[in-house]
Amino acid sequence: MKMKKLVSVLLIAACVCSFAACGSKEATESEGSTSEEKDTLVMATNAEFPPYEYYEGDDIVGIDAEIAQAIAEELGMELKIEDMAFDSIIPAITSGKADFGAAGMTVTEDRKENVDFTDTYATATQVIIVKEDSEIAGPDDLEGKKIGVQLGTTGDIYASDIKDAEVEQYNKGFEAVQALTQGKIDAVVIDGEPAKEFVSQTEGLKILDEAFTEEEYAIAVAKGNDELREQINAALATLKESGKIDEIVAKYISADDAE
Ligand code: GLN
Repeated sequence: MKMKKLVSVLLIAACVCSFAACGSKEATESEGSTSEEKDTLVMATNAEFPPYEYYEGDDIVGIDAEIAQAIAEELGMELKIEDMAFDSIIPAITSGKADFGAAGMTVTEDRKENVDFTDTYATATQVIIVKEDSEIAGPDDLEGKKIGVQLGTTGDIYASDIKDAEVEQYNKGFEAVQALTQGKIDAVVIDGEPAKEFVSQTEGLKILDEAFTEEEYAIAVAKGNDELREQINAALATLKESGKIDEIVAKYISADDAE
């Protein structure tokens, strides 16, 4: 009896040991680098921006999530996605909490003062969403109106430049769209692709044909982190060349739907 017990204890111990060995394999493999985190690329995003990043159950999916995953694979690294408010992404990068930001982020001169951008991987426009029966027909009609935007976005910046407009800032783009349906605001200024998603999920809204100027999305890295920026650019070039980027985009945006 006693012997049997000892044997099973030993067996369990052996199992636990082999599990432990398994678990530490990653750590052993990463010994060459200075720290364990080096093998993990931390991406900062705001997962409220379909089809670029949004939740599907507990997972963050979307174009940026998949492009980032493909980049991480190219670089032989693990990807970890951190969800946060859009205006926390740049601070997360500058403080080193995140290695890069991928969030349908438009390249702007202001942002370039705080972060460096990779090559661009998508173009976008800011569009105007109104109620179907709205008198607002284009950007000029937004003067003096109540405009909903997502805090800290280029839509926020554009809206703030409109004469006499009252800008309501929301944490999530969809909250602005809901405020519009509730009649709390007159229009929403937001990126074209999420606009299509939100309008298709909501009754009685439309996107105006006349849009604001074209923008370009890129990945943001810490200022001076040329090593990572160049690695990402090389990965992006490979993924563009192989058709992987197009494949990812096509999965989330149907061709007849694209602008
Ligand atoms: N493209 C916009 C910007 O960069 C919005 C991005 C977003 O809301 N995720 O400001």
